[in-house]
Parts: sequence; structure tokens; C-alpha cells
Amino acid sequence: AGMSAEDAALLARRRRVLGDIYPLFYSKPVHVVRGEGARLYDNEGREYLDAYNNVLAVGHANPRIADAVDAQLRKMNTHTRYLQDGVVDYAERFVATHPEALDRVIFTNSGSEANDLALAIARWRTGAQGVIVTHNAYHGTTQVLAGVSPENGVAMPLHPYVRTVDAPDTYRYGDQAGAVFAASVREAIADLQRHGWGVSALLLDTIMSTDGIFAGEPGMLREGFRAVQEAGGLVIADEVQPGVGRLGESMWGFQRHTDDVDMATCGKPLAGGLPIGTLALSSELSDGYASSHRYFNTFGGNPASIAAAGAVLDEVEDRGLIASAHAVGEALAQGIRDASAPHGWVKDVRGAGLFIGVEMGADGDVPGSSLAAAVVNGLRERRVLISAVADDGRVLKVRPPLVFTHDDVALFLHHYSEVLSEIETKGVQR
Ligand code: PMP
Repeated sequence: AGMSAEDAALLARRRRVLGDIYPLFYSKPVHVVRGEGARLYDNEGREYLDAYNNVLAVGHANPRIADAVDAQLRKMNTHTRYLQDGVVDYAERFVATHPEALDRVIFTNSGSEANDLALAIARWRTGAQGVIVTHNAYHGTTQVLAGVSPENGVAMPLHPYVRTVDAPDTYRYGDQAGAVFAASVREAIADLQRHGWGVSALLLDTIMSTDGIFAGEPGMLREGFRAVQEAGGLVIADEVQPGVGRLGESMWGFQRHTDDVDMATCGKPLAGGLPIGTLALSSELSDGYASSHRYFNTFGGNPASIAAAGAVLDEVEDRGLIASAHAVGEALAQGIRDASAPHGWVKDVRGAGLFIGVEMGADGDVPGSSLAAAVVNGLRERRVLISAVADDGRVLKVRPPLVFTHDDVALFLHHYSEVLSEIETKGVQR
């Protein structure tokens, strides 16, 4: 609808060679050619405000990343079986961002590979198989992870050793959310034990992005985590979504709730779009596993990705991006709350730092999911980029690069208010 001839032709070619396995965002796709900071530009030079991409945490086309990668590629780009400074320097800085107990890192190429390895290590350590995830979790692409990722839907069934639990839905359960989560975890533990699987791990995205974005009160996850550990299982914090300071308080999402996790994985935001994944764990766990297992990952920890990751840490530190995520995120959330107030179908605005969820309720016979889709596509028409999550897509996901500024907030809110007013007056197509 309304697509240029050039875009329609590219879309047709794309479909022919790539198929539909990676669906595009938006009913009218965005044809991007370059970016800068929190802006993207399309093939006709139009500017978009990016309020969605966490991969480019320190901004699109970040010159510091480009220079670091360029310099590295002009020297060498091998793998981790040679002695090199770069990977050791970065690993030291990286583990220092974690609680003391997580003093080791294993590099992979993706969040999926990091989660896959974490589950293997948990299974080895516990001798148990059972895995607990939330009802609409997503943890990655491998066959093991597809089977612990209910978000994929019924075509990719869960493994028999998986149990799903209620996310701590702060909108529905209020200050009881943590207790509801813990009770659900306890039930899952009992069920896994009854069926002979035992408890190997709780694997949890610590902001529960695909379940609907639940930052919750600090400490909210602690009781559920403890239940897993008391049952002999390990807690694996999946930091792919909240990691690298996005929540505006500390480097990692789990730190809002507790330091007591057994492993933490990350990927996406670490290296400005270059492939990287990380598994942080204790030396005790790492040494134990390594005494009977090998893990060599050709590209994991490659010098070019590591150079990019170092530049990301430099940017986060030098530009104070964690504090900025806090301040700018508060202004953004408050602005969204104010702009939403006149519209009764916007039910809840929540989150932490630059990770905000906006829950849409039904308006008459129009479901919240249709309203959320109308807001996402309405903002896209105005060249502001966000997306939607939760099992039916009723929650707006606002997750801009960490370099988002107060001016960006003002621009976002201008368009957000207008889109909501348009929907209020015109309604949505069902
Ligand atoms: N865990 C979470 C919470 C994710 O959001 C994703 C990616 N969307 C992954 C794991 C998988 O990461 P990757 O795509 O790098 O394999």
C-alpha cells in the first residue's frame, strides 16, 4: 500500500531469494540505507526516528565502532586459539561489569549459542533436564532453544522437559507480581520433579520482553530465583533484551532484582551489530565443565567483533549512557503516560530506563492487539519506529538506542499524541 515502484521491485526480488522466513516489520516496509545516532534514513533520504533498536545501543553508524573494527581488520582477524591482547582486555572489562561471582566469560556468535551452551552446562552440573521459561518466552534459534521458546507458537512444540510459568505481570497482579511468579515457579518445579525430569534451569529474560515487558519493583524476581536454586537448579539470566545498561541503573537487568544468578547470557546490544554472544559464569562452573568438555567456536570472540564490543563499552562509559537511559527514559515514560491519559484504551505504561511497554486494552469491540498494531503502523507512517509484543501483540515495545536524547523524546511524543488522537477520532481497520 503506497509503496514506490522501486520498493515494490526490491520487495519482489527479496521474496524470490530470501522467501518469507524473515518477515519484515510494518504493513509498509521501511527501506533503510543509512543511519546516524537514533536516526535512520531511507532510499529517498527521508529521516526516521528509531525508538526500537537495541542492537545499535550506542547509535547507528557509530564512528568509534567503525574505526575500531577497521583498524582491527587491517591488522588481523583470527580466532581464540591464538594468544591475543584484545580478547583478554575485553573479557576483563566485561566480567568486571558483573557481580563478583561471575568472573568468567565464554564468547559465542549469538545470543542463541550462548543460551544453548548455558543450558548444556546447567544440565551437566545438575544432572537434571527440566527447564522453566515464561509462557511467551523467546530464547533463540537452535532446535534446543526453539523447544524452550513458546513465543514460536504451536508449529514448534516445546520439549517434554519444559514447563512454562506466569511472567510477573505487574499490570494484572500489581505488587503481588513477584509472589505470583514465585508460586508459578514452585508449581513448575514440583511438576518437573513428579515427572522425573528434575530441575536443571530457569531461563529468564530479566525484563520479560516477549511476555509484555515487566520491569517491576526491584527485587521482584528474587523469590522465584531462590526457589529454583533451592531445588538444585541454576538461574540463567538472558540479558539479550535488557543488557548493556538499558534499564538505566546497572549494566544488566538481573541486577535490578538480585546479584544471585548462576549464569548470564547476552548478544544483540554488545557490539553494534557485529555478531557476538556471551556467557558469563563462575570460574568454578566453567572449570568444572571444561574438565570434561571442549567448546571451540570459530568466530566466537573474533578480534573484529571484540574490537566493536570494546568501542561499545567505551561509548557507554564515556558518554554516561546508563545515567542517560535513566533520565531520558523517565521523561519518555512520563510523556507517554501524559499523552495516553485522554485515551481510556491505553491501560498501562511501564518499564525501566529506555525499555517501555504500553499495554493496550479493548476499545468497545476493537481488541487491544488491533489498537497496538494501529499505533505501530501509524507511527511508522510518521517515520517513528517502534514495535509490539506479548502473546497477542497488545503491548507497544519502545526500546530506543541508548543515545536517545530529550529532543528525541519530544519528537516521539509529538507523533505519539497525534497517532492516538487519530485513532480516537477515526477508529481502526479490523
Ligand atoms: N534471547 C532473547 C531474549 C532474545 O530476544 C533473542 C533474540 N531476539 C535471543 C535470545 C536470541 O539471540 P540471537 O538472535 O542473537 O541468537
